[in-house]
Amino acid sequence: MRLQKFLARAGVASRRGSENLMTAGRVRVNGQVVVELGSKVHPLLDTVTVDDVAVVWGSAPVTLAFHKPAGVVSTMLDPQGRPCVADYIDTRAFPGLYPIGRLDSNTTGLLLFSTDGNLGHALLHPSHHVAKRYIVLVEGHISPADIRAFREGVAIDGYTCAPADARCLPDARAAYTRYNLECFRSVVKNKRQEAAFRHALHNGAFSAVELTIKEGKYHQVKRMFLALHHEVYALHRQQFGPVSAEGIVRGTYRVLESTLAAQLY
Ligand code: URA
Repeated sequence: MRLQKFLARAGVASRRGSENLMTAGRVRVNGQVVVELGSKVHPLLDTVTVDDVAVVWGSAPVTLAFHKPAGVVSTMLDPQGRPCVADYIDTRAFPGLYPIGRLDSNTTGLLLFSTDGNLGHALLHPSHHVAKRYIVLVEGHISPADIRAFREGVAIDGYTCAPADARCLPDARAAYTRYNLECFRSVVKNKRQEAAFRHALHNGAFSAVELTIKEGKYHQVKRMFLALHHEVYALHRQQFGPVSAEGIVRGTYRVLESTLAAQLY
């Protein structure tokens, strides 16, 4: 097995992270530093260490579904001291846990974590077309032409997105409650604006859209709506592949059963 694959499978880091460990000279096989990315290793017969700590092979990987609150960054630790995932998950209980992709700090909803370094690659690589379903609260009326544009492929900064599945939810106010949407703090900044926002929501000034995409470009959902001249006020991820945020209280996580985790491949 290739060494970076072995490290990822053993839950040391993602595949890319494992490659970085190797090129930094931190990985040894039978005592010898190995920096070449194509190098092979036998999982049972060779001794692999990272920073002189032996890598244990064979413990079952763990995958978690975390319901991210707004205002939390998607990383395990934040050098700037902002609220991050380690405030919600006892990372010492899951060595090697890393986030599979990311959500913006002001986005709520489902974020997967795994100790299986290959899972991230399997779920995030665009060629694997894993669907992510978002609930989006936007200003204004979403027209049938907007929905058609999503289905045909919206252009963002010279890149044409793959066709996305979009549908307008019948009642934006009901969607706000149903998905516990949280209006961005950058948009609604104080109590007065909060009251004005509620009033506008009540009076039908907003639309709620269910958007399913199979890509993961930077700020993709926000940029897709902006391309159609709609500002996003709240964004929530409800589904990632077969995993749903349904039933997971915001700020908590669920360990996925191995059968569900197996479906992710
Ligand atoms: N698209 C965005 O714009 N933000 C997210 O957090 C996720 C998808």
